[in-house]
Amino acid sequence: MPIATVNPANGETLKTYEAMGEEEIERRLQLAEATFRTYRTSTFAERARLLHRAADLLEADQANIGRVMTTEMGKPVKQARAEAAKCAKAMRWYAEHAEELLADEQPAAADVQDSGASRVLVRYRPLGPVLAVMPWNFPLWQVVRFAAPALMAGNVGLLKHASNVPQTALYLEDLFHRAGFTEGTFQTLLIGAGAVDGILRDERVKAATLTGSEPAGRSVAATSGEMIKKTVLELGGSDPFVVMPSADVERAAQVAVTARVQNNGQSCIAAKRFIVHTDVHDEFTERFTAAMRALKVGDPLLESTEVGPLANEQGRADLEELVDDARRSGAAVLCGGERPEGPGWFYPPTVLSGITREMRIHREEAFGPVATLYRAGDLDEAVLIANDSPFGLSSNVWTRDEAEVDRFVRDLEAGSVFVNGMTASHPAFPFGGVKRSGYGRELSGHGIREFCNITTVWQG
Ligand code: NAP
Repeated sequence: MPIATVNPANGETLKTYEAMGEEEIERRLQLAEATFRTYRTSTFAERARLLHRAADLLEADQANIGRVMTTEMGKPVKQARAEAAKCAKAMRWYAEHAEELLADEQPAAADVQDSGASRVLVRYRPLGPVLAVMPWNFPLWQVVRFAAPALMAGNVGLLKHASNVPQTALYLEDLFHRAGFTEGTFQTLLIGAGAVDGILRDERVKAATLTGSEPAGRSVAATSGEMIKKTVLELGGSDPFVVMPSADVERAAQVAVTARVQNNGQSCIAAKRFIVHTDVHDEFTERFTAAMRALKVGDPLLESTEVGPLANEQGRADLEELVDDARRSGAAVLCGGERPEGPGWFYPPTVLSGITREMRIHREEAFGPVATLYRAGDLDEAVLIANDSPFGLSSNVWTRDEAEVDRFVRDLEAGSVFVNGMTASHPAFPFGGVKRSGYGRELSGHGIREFCNITTVWQG
């Protein structure tokens, strides 16, 4: 894939970039290693001051970088500005909490005595340069949720961003420099996916995090496994959204629309499979389908647009194939389902019912504004359908029955369970999945400790 900004609203190529050559990559790796040697000894207060400054700059830049993101990957511009604001918030959260999250830990006195030590402590030390391979769908947020904790822990970052968001990638490097981080603390590598393997094999790179698709995750994990390097993988999702009879169905249907079409439907934690109890199935379907049909699809730079184009041509073709496969196998198309005429990679909000296990869309991730509906006879059947997926990122349940909440929390195979609300990430809460959605956690104390050398200090 060329490294270029191509406007998904009209297919126009706006800017292309040469990939960095071997020499430039080597210069940056050397710089990362050299910077780490001193940066690792900086204090939490120094790092926090710089990260607060980065948050200030990002807040001031919201409108500009928002437009850049929209032009590169097509998200509605209002959502792009909100993403920038969320990133500033996460930076501040880590600036304020990192020291406490990484404070030395003392094992129980009895265990210290049992070991024969006079003192034992556990210290979280940084690992070194960490490679972050990131996707285009939340081009600022995915990077910041890695970078804020990594830099606060004393690591330095190397970013390989998706090839279709080079301006956002370069903006991030510039942002950290303007904030006062020295040049090697956070660097963007303008490289294609093919160059990742060599960098992962370089001894100076100590660990890697990847947010993206399953094939990319598998490839990075395989090389890292060979090199015995720590990885965190945040991969795809096909989250269930279960509605039970005691739920506020009107509210559930409203939230379901946002949960499905946020970011033009290209979110790993979007609700994708709507599993509705038979008692409220028809009411939910009617409300949900009407609201999906009413969404304003169009130019993502317009404030009034609710759904913009898909980020690239291949993404639209993949989504279309999933819908066509389901239709051929007997699914009913309740709205949408046909690509519009004209320029840009638009696809309409679509609702499919009558989904069966044989359809590809039942097992694969629909990365666009396409919802699938299932009817469940009872809670057990809802859980069975929800768990019948290779993915396990997040899950949503709507019920006012506490016993049902307990059952869902016990039984759903997912990294989070959101009750009477849609999945959203927050800096203070762990984020990540099970099954083929990946492993490891981002955000919260769990996220910042992923790239630390958890060091036992024993004194006789
Ligand atoms: P992608 O094709 O996997 O790309 C993600 C990143 O990996 C890009 O930087 C890409 O570079 C790189 N890459 C691709 N193949 C690679 C390989 N074989 N080795 C090393 N790097 C490789 O994914 P995408 O289409 O951009 O993003 C959509 C996917 O990300 C969806 O499945 C979505 O669910 C998932 N996602 C997950 C989360 C989460 O937190 N779990 C969050 C957001 C998105 P190039 O652009 O140069 O190809």
